[in-house]
Amino acid sequence: MVREQIEARGIKDRGVLEVLRNTPRHQFVPSELQAHAYEDRPLPIGYGQTISQPYIVALMTEMLDVDRDMNVLEIGTGSGYQAAVLSPLVRKLYTIEIVPELARSAQTILERLGYRNVTVKHGDGYLGWPEASPFDRIMLTAAPPEIPPALVDQLKPGGKMVAPVGGTEYQQLVVLEKRADGSVRVRATVPVSFVPMVRGTKR
Ligand code: SAH
Repeated sequence: MVREQIEARGIKDRGVLEVLRNTPRHQFVPSELQAHAYEDRPLPIGYGQTISQPYIVALMTEMLDVDRDMNVLEIGTGSGYQAAVLSPLVRKLYTIEIVPELARSAQTILERLGYRNVTVKHGDGYLGWPEASPFDRIMLTAAPPEIPPALVDQLKPGGKMVAPVGGTEYQQLVVLEKRADGSVRVRATVPVSFVPMVRGTKR
């Protein structure tokens, strides 16, 4: 998977490639799809959601440009696979999932596999995680129509966010950088197709 789908498409970061080699993707997909876990495509994980294509996980992880001392937030835990990929590359990973069943199953599998620096929360990613902020990095794996302002607020000066931003079917993968003075620079990169980031209902 790593050689043919990821290195061949230009992902070079040694740390990212090594983590992808070591992360058991089959543990994060429904049992009836385990035989397909290392194929070059997203897979359904239930509740109308998907685990992203391995190459897109690698690309977004490389773009996020993380370090071992960073405090990181992910929006859209889904299966927990992207969280598992980020875990060894950062100090602490917080991840938020709006579907309670997915939050619970991701937490179970991440605990079982020993990812001790990951904390999963059931909640609405539009609100971020104020108690755990500020973050050095934020990654969205569900697509909002616009970058949620609360997430920009929770990013440290010098921080970066990687997010699919746009319509319900297709989006641009965007890299946002927050400068020391708090101003932001937004750069669109490649077209992608993520599930929409939905609005939480008041509970
Ligand atoms: N990162 C995941 C893939 C996520 S698919 C993985 O590695 O498997 C996108 C996920 O975002 C879905 O599970 C969806 O339920 C979740 N999501 C959608 N809107 C959300 C919101 N407002 N807050 C948190 N999670 C959300």
